[in-house]
Amino acid sequence: MKEKPVVTYCTGGIRCEILSVVMKNRGFKEVYQIDGGIVKYGENFAEDGLWEGALYTFDSRMAIDFSTKTKVIGECEICQGPSKIFRNCRTKTCHELILLCDSCNDLPASTKCTHDPSKVRDSEMVG
Ligand SMILES: [Zn+2]
Ligand SMILES: [Zn+2]
Repeated sequence: MKEKPVVTYCTGGIRCEILSVVMKNRGFKEVYQIDGGIVKYGENFAEDGLWEGALYTFDSRMAIDFSTKTKVIGECEICQGPSKIFRNCRTKTCHELILLCDSCNDLPASTKCTHDPSKVRDSEMVG
């Protein structure tokens, strides 16, 4: 693997910048990254690029579409219908996000938390 070219990417290009340095230090010969991350890639190529679907964001927008033709590739966790919107689990002490369509979000069933309460949020994995 260390002899093969590797392309790293992340949302805004910051995390893969760090990862690329770590990989080079650990002996990877050819490490590339998408300059500006998927956000810039999507802005530059829109529907002509290789990216499919909306981009999950870590802010209140929750998802970005790069064109008006963006395909919805996410599936609602209840009905498996198309959805791209993650919503906070309604149990306040739970920090899980769930992918729900608008109709299922309105169902009382969507209020039941089925997540492991011992699972703590890893702040390193956010942002
Ligand atoms: Zn649904
Ligand atoms: Zn939950």
